[in-house]
Amino acid sequence: MRILLTAGPTREPIDPARFISNYSTGTMGYELALEALKRGHHVVLVSGPTALILPKKAKIINIETAREMFSSVKTNFIKSDCIIMTAAVADFRPTKKRIKKIKRADNIGNILLKKNPDILSWLGKRKNKRLLVGFCMETEGLLKNAIKKKREKRLDLIVANKIDHKRSAFGKGRTSVVLIGPDSNIELKNVVKEKIARIILDKIEEMWYKKPHP
Ligand code: C5P
Repeated sequence: MRILLTAGPTREPIDPARFISNYSTGTMGYELALEALKRGHHVVLVSGPTALILPKKAKIINIETAREMFSSVKTNFIKSDCIIMTAAVADFRPTKKRIKKIKRADNIGNILLKKNPDILSWLGKRKNKRLLVGFCMETEGLLKNAIKKKREKRLDLIVANKIDHKRSAFGKGRTSVVLIGPDSNIELKNVVKEKIARIILDKIEEMWYKKPHP
């Protein structure tokens, strides 16, 4: 399969020295890239800034902002069979990027924000036979919100992470997720991300190879 993967956070600049971002480390996306390559799939990885070692053999596109991620996804999704949006795309960006660094003495007031494009929703409208996989992270109503997102964004599979006060879903280590597919759910409790990646890819391959394709 030709897999387009996004991973890591995006950064939304406030001024030349500061940005808005989130705690994503890129671990889940990079584990998925490694596992997909191991299985012989072709991987294009659109990555936000991370401290991880880039998987050899993947085509890597480094981006910073959500809009840069969006433009890379737009140019690469046509030639893909499956798109996995692991990235924690910042939902908002400052309305303007200041050219000069804001000084401590400045009367900064408020930073106005506006919504970033929803890449996954855009893909949902254009997917055709492609498989579309999304992630979500919620502090409450995990399953209800995940099912709603899966339907609204027209996903084939959504991976729901519960985020707690320890933020344990971020970074390396074990986490608990629920995979919500077309006809069944898989609940994984306290599992390493390497194994979660294997189970996600098992599910993707199962969906892909049982679908009729031209
Ligand atoms: O932020 P949210 O929980 O809605 O993210 C759910 C999914 O949507 C994730 O797979 C994420 O990569 C994707 N997303 C996106 N564009 C955004 C925000 C989220 O594609 N602006």
